Amino acid sequence: VPTIGVLALQGDVREHARALEAAGARTLGVRRPEELERVDGLVLPGGESTAMWRLARAFELLEPLRKRIEAGMPAYGSCAGMIMLADRIVDGAEGQETIGGIDMTVRRNAFGRQVDSFETGVRLTGMGDTPYHAVFIRAPWVEAVGSGVEVLGRAGGGPNAGRIVAVRQGRLMATAFHPELTGDFRVHHYFADLVRRAAEEAG
Ligand code: GLN
Repeated sequence: VPTIGVLALQGDVREHARALEAAGARTLGVRRPEELERVDGLVLPGGESTAMWRLARAFELLEPLRKRIEAGMPAYGSCAGMIMLADRIVDGAEGQETIGGIDMTVRRNAFGRQVDSFETGVRLTGMGDTPYHAVFIRAPWVEAVGSGVEVLGRAGGGPNAGRIVAVRQGRLMATAFHPELTGDFRVHHYFADLVRRAAEEAG
């Protein structure tokens, strides 16, 4: 059974750990570089991306995170975690840095400008036919993606219909919403499978 870390600097760490365990993974909270070395994949939770960035820097995790992602570690970011995995951000805080890895531009607080939180159905490629009940909380959206990025889901009805809210690039994936909050753990299953396959390939 592969071990999936949850970046435990800030945000809804426990909910992701529960969802991953429901998907059959073993989990480990990651706060230090030594812990990062022990995991086969990593979830970056929702929370606040500027706080996460500052803490990652203070805990000397920013560079180790970048190195492991470059070396092919699977990672999944939800909401603030999506921002952390973006190569480029719009409307970040002054000087805000990301870890990067996914060739996309993410607009921070994009949905949050209109409504702080909302829920809508999102159809996700490769995760069954039933639309996902997606919870958005001061959520970003993906404004642009490079050619290597697969769009997995777009927002449903309303003024923001069609906005990209779920993506995958190789072993990296991100959602603008919070699948750890609804009890429907298809996204965590999908990621746990991805980590399992990557761990098998690595031997
Ligand atoms: N607005 C937050 C940020 O900028 C993200 C919100 C969330 O993770 N629910 O990081």
